[in-house]
Amino acid sequence: MEEVYFNDEIVEIRDMVRRFAQDKIAPLAVECDEAERFPSELVEPLFEAGILTMPMSEEFGGINANTQTLSVVLEEVGAAFATMGPVLLSTFSPIKIVAMAGQPHQQKAIFSQMSAKPSLGAFCLSEPHFGSDARSMKTSLVKKGDHYVLNGTKRWITNGGVADWYLIFTKCGDGKDDFAVCMIPATSKGISFGKKEKKMGLRGGPMCDVIFEDVEVPEEYLVGKPGDGWHTLDRVANTMRCWGAASISVGIARSAFEVAARYAAEREAFGKPIGKFQGVGFKLADMARDLRATQLLIRDTNYRVDLELPSVSANTMAQVSMSKYTASDTAMSVATEAVQILGGYGYMQEYQVERMIRDAKAFQILDGSNEIQRLILSRDILREYA
Ligand SMILES: Cc1cc2nc3c(=O)[nH]c(=O)nc-3n(C[C@H](O)[C@H](O)[C@H](O)COP(=O)(O)OP(=O)(O)OC[C@H]3O[C@@H](n4cnc5c(N)ncnc54)[C@H](O)[C@@H]3O)c2cc1C
Repeated sequence: MEEVYFNDEIVEIRDMVRRFAQDKIAPLAVECDEAERFPSELVEPLFEAGILTMPMSEEFGGINANTQTLSVVLEEVGAAFATMGPVLLSTFSPIKIVAMAGQPHQQKAIFSQMSAKPSLGAFCLSEPHFGSDARSMKTSLVKKGDHYVLNGTKRWITNGGVADWYLIFTKCGDGKDDFAVCMIPATSKGISFGKKEKKMGLRGGPMCDVIFEDVEVPEEYLVGKPGDGWHTLDRVANTMRCWGAASISVGIARSAFEVAARYAAEREAFGKPIGKFQGVGFKLADMARDLRATQLLIRDTNYRVDLELPSVSANTMAQVSMSKYTASDTAMSVATEAVQILGGYGYMQEYQVERMIRDAKAFQILDGSNEIQRLILSRDILREYA
């Protein structure tokens, strides 16, 4: 189906990434999920294909990819093997944040090193005592002479231990809005890592605590100025709920739907394909409707975000939230219905739809739980109608 929101360049990138994802990523899915193995052999090919650095400007080997483009990339990767979605998202989002909120000398200091070799990123916000309530963070950045000193522990960090660069949200004073963002290399003295987490899904993705003890941070590794941090989180970083979590989710939904539709057309019971029974056919119709409606919502939201960045309006952020919870709920319901349509085969590993349920569940929680997204949307509604 032709996509009205896509120009020729996005279609070309989508087709290239689809080929890459189907040829190189999808064949690793079963083994990496089962062995809980991170497919590190993909990092170099992703760099060589120009995918890892896409959100950087041309100066650093990127294409300045907008959120519509990144969304398309992550949908394709999510459709091939969802584990690799957050691995890429955790690289794209720090780059996008530095590109949107960093000063030119900070971008140069970070991107010139990051683009020189295959590099993964990590997005460090959650801490042991909070995930949703970001204002309660304890990680601190304190100025000492000509540099800053970082202390704190970040929890459940995707790419923890394998990333080359860490983007960190931190307090920088006692005031309500005293937040800062910095991006530091993994080689910084004082960084250490907790145990590897064992997860329900996304099992090929590395995750652990990241601990910062008296890490020296030069000013050029700050992203913007101290005090800019909350705005950067709220109006730049959180847009990834649509181009990231929602897009990977819709990729999962697409794959689960395709497996179910093919199966329903082939599997026979009582002398005809099961898809011809209304009980199964109507399920497929609802799955196709939810999938397409979600894709269109995501494309429209990204279009708006791209027009508004680097400071996205509250109204558009509410649509970002709507997209995130719609897409992850859709991924969960479509994957669950796919297992049902495949019956006993759905419950077995062979058709991979059981993995899609486990993978989809993560997106109802991470990057701001779906309850928090409903809260943001409901506040926006009440602001308008009060
Ligand atoms: C697979 C995975 C990958 C992740 N990767 C990263 C990462 O790379 N970087 C990172 O920083 N974090 C990461 N996280 C952490 C994730 O962002 C948090 O788990 C998420 O924000 C929810 O926080 P929490 O788990 O502390 O839940 P809590 O905030 O403790 O909430 C617990 C429950 O209460 C509900 N709740 C809380 N407040 C409200 C409210 N006001 N109204 C209604 N309900 C509410 C929540 O929706 C949730 O259901 C990851 C998590 C997962 C599962």
